[in-house]
Amino acid sequence: MANFTWSFSALKQYQNCPKQYYELTVAKNFVQSPSQAMIYGNQVHSALEHYVKEGTELPKYYQRFKPLVDDLIAIPGDKLTEHRMALTKEKTPCTFGAKERWVRGIADLVIIDDDHAFIIDYKTGSDKYPDLKQLRLMSLMTFAHFPEVKKVKAGLLFVMHNNFMPEEYHRDDAEKSWESFAVPLTRLDHSYESNTWQANPTPLCKFCPVKTCEFNKT
Ligand code: SF4
Repeated sequence: MANFTWSFSALKQYQNCPKQYYELTVAKNFVQSPSQAMIYGNQVHSALEHYVKEGTELPKYYQRFKPLVDDLIAIPGDKLTEHRMALTKEKTPCTFGAKERWVRGIADLVIIDDDHAFIIDYKTGSDKYPDLKQLRLMSLMTFAHFPEVKKVKAGLLFVMHNNFMPEEYHRDDAEKSWESFAVPLTRLDHSYESNTWQANPTPLCKFCPVKTCEFNKT
C-alpha cells in the first residue's frame, strides 16, 4: 500500500477528479482560492465555535443561528469544539500531526456523554445534496478515540435552512462502516502506486484552479 494520508474532503476531491487532486494536494502546483461562500462559511464556523466554547456572543448578523446552537449546548456532556482526530493505518488513535497518521478530520462539535456521543457538522451551503458520509468517517474516528462510546448520533446542521439531517452509528457496525471507504481508497492507492491521475472533466472545470489542464477553458 502506498504511503499517503487522507481526509474526507481530500478523498472526495480525488473522486471528483484525480488530476485535480494530484495538482492541488500531491504536487501542490496550484492553490484553490477561497470563494465568497467559503469565506462566509469559515466566519460562521468560527463564530459558532467560540459561542459554544467560551460563550462569546454571536455577532448581530449571526444571531439567527443562536436557537439552533442553544439546542446543542443544552445536550448534556463534554463539548469539544473543532475537535481534531487522527488514526494510523491500523486504525488506532494518534495525534493530529503524528508522522504515522493515515486519516484525519476535524469535527465542528463533539459531545461525549458517557457511552453516547454527538457529532455535529455545521453547513452554510445548500441542503439539496447532503453528503452524510463525512459523518460516518467522524463517527469511526470517535469510536477509536473514545473507547467508552458505543453509539454516535450525528448530524449535518444546515444553519441557513434551519435543517438538521441526522444519522446514527453503532460501534458494532464499525467494520462495515470502514468497508464503505474501501473502493475509493483502493483507487487512490492505485493512483499513488502507478502515479496515474486521470482527468475527469465536468461543467465545473471552468472553476478549477488547474490552469494547465486541457479541459480548463477559462
Ligand atoms: S479542469 Fe476539470 S478535468 Fe482538469 S483538473 Fe480541473 S476538474 Fe479535473
